[in-house]
Amino acid sequence: MLRFDVITLFPEMFAAVRDCGISRRALERGLWQLDCWNPRDWADNAYGSVDDRPFGGGPGMVMQAGPLEAAIGAAQVARSSKAKVIYLSPQGKPLNHAKVAELAAGEGAILLCGRYEGIDERVIARCVDEEVSLGDFVLSGGEIAALALIDACVRQLPGALNDVASAVEDSFVDGLLDCPHYTRPEVYEELPVPEVLLSGHHENIRRWRLKQSLLRTRERRPELFAKWLAQRAANARGLSKEETQLLREIEVDSNTGALRS
Ligand code: SAM
Repeated sequence: MLRFDVITLFPEMFAAVRDCGISRRALERGLWQLDCWNPRDWADNAYGSVDDRPFGGGPGMVMQAGPLEAAIGAAQVARSSKAKVIYLSPQGKPLNHAKVAELAAGEGAILLCGRYEGIDERVIARCVDEEVSLGDFVLSGGEIAALALIDACVRQLPGALNDVASAVEDSFVDGLLDCPHYTRPEVYEELPVPEVLLSGHHENIRRWRLKQSLLRTRERRPELFAKWLAQRAANARGLSKEETQLLREIEVDSNTGALRS
């Protein structure tokens, strides 16, 4: 079963996935497990302090190796088999759908959350298997990145979403961005819902949604679109007849300024 053990100075932050929404329901259904381990419980002083000044000087504090390694060790012992240790770090590989799908299909991981200037490099050398980043920006701690990773993995679990189709139709799953969505009212602030969505014609709706996905991906994420095209080209069957036709239509629409019609 998917299980996350989080090494964190702020276990209370994980109420966000434990007590809310889809991840809470999935936890109640026994689809995954969460445990937090606070390095302060392994502090070597009466104050529970687990950080110290950096060697070589400079601003800020660094999380000490000892309490972090002890917390990781305790989490490993609590698990039935040895888990991968992931350090959430701005210097890691950016998180993406492929990584989320890989993790969700496995037994989870021990997630190490840094604070301050970061953690003693020797913990990374001794205990960390992988570093994962939420993006090219710096957070105050690894917790928000760990929460994002956990939430993304849990929604992939069979039975986590009420409608099984939802996760399959999300952005990135098939290499494209999701299509736009609308709900009532039919006209909002003079903006009508695209007519085809009110037609009840399932085949036309499916085709329109695919075209919107192709269009959005091409416009918003050209590098993702190029990757999707390359994957299709590498596939023995190549582009389907419908995809070829839709891409042609998009090309014509963009030349005539009729996109989105
Ligand atoms: N001095 C570090 C650096 O520039 O690489 C940043 C330290 S940051 C203030 C403190 C902690 O936040 C890090 O140890 C890491 O666990 C977490 N963190 C910050 N940005 C992150 C990101 N983009 N993705 C994942 N974790 C991040």
